[in-house]
Amino acid sequence: MRKKIVAGNWKMNKTADEAQALLSEIVNLIKEEASSATEVTVVLCPPSLYLTMAQQQVATVGNVSVGAQNCHEKASGAYTGEISAPMLKSIGIEYVILGHSERRQYFDESNTQLAEKVNSALENGLTPIFCCGESRDLRENGDYIGFVKDQITDSLFHLSPESFSKVVVAYEPIWAIGTGLTASSAQAQDMHFELRRHIAGQYGDEIAQETSILYGGSANAQNAAELFAQPDVDGGLIGGASLKAPDFITVVKAAQ
Ligand code: PEP
Repeated sequence: MRKKIVAGNWKMNKTADEAQALLSEIVNLIKEEASSATEVTVVLCPPSLYLTMAQQQVATVGNVSVGAQNCHEKASGAYTGEISAPMLKSIGIEYVILGHSERRQYFDESNTQLAEKVNSALENGLTPIFCCGESRDLRENGDYIGFVKDQITDSLFHLSPESFSKVVVAYEPIWAIGTGLTASSAQAQDMHFELRRHIAGQYGDEIAQETSILYGGSANAQNAAELFAQPDVDGGLIGGASLKAPDFITVVKAAQ
């Protein structure tokens, strides 16, 4: 059975004190309310500065991991301000979000560059949470399913079946991220179904059925249960709602 995952993407939010407070609130709520959600893996992705803090806070909770929001494709070198996969590995990080639409948009990350980042993450034992998704214009006027399939083909399909099996996919329609415009559960299911079929075409049905495909885009405490009830939706990548502990825990419980 494929893994259910709820990952919280904090983006560039929270000072150190605020991060500490949010982390302890999340950890306490998980212990009190969601520790029975053992089959759901929770991944907290704070800004890199707080990764170690987050690891210390979640150390006593079984089903919670810590992830980074990005890594560089090179292992080391003159890339001021960047963080590499070996560095993340060296502090025991398990997950890394790659290809978030904000990175694609503001930092010009291409499918080719993302393929290199995926390679580096996997070489260092990190699980990539690979983001893909179409713009509103494409959804309304173009081959949006083909576009998202191409993102996956271009950045992931060079992987061996064994390596691909370690990747988590996150479908995040750009028009739904941070806008309050959630994809309907039917829209999410349709795309996830198409993506799973696309993966099956490359790697076979068994691997496709084992691939966790998360939904992201204004998922929250109100709509998560309906989204996660879809057969091909295996959890969520949560932005805004991951910054409010009670909301985030409700989303985690919805994935049970
Ligand atoms: C995200 O940043 O990955 C995201 C899904 O954000 P939000 O939930 O705020 O739309």
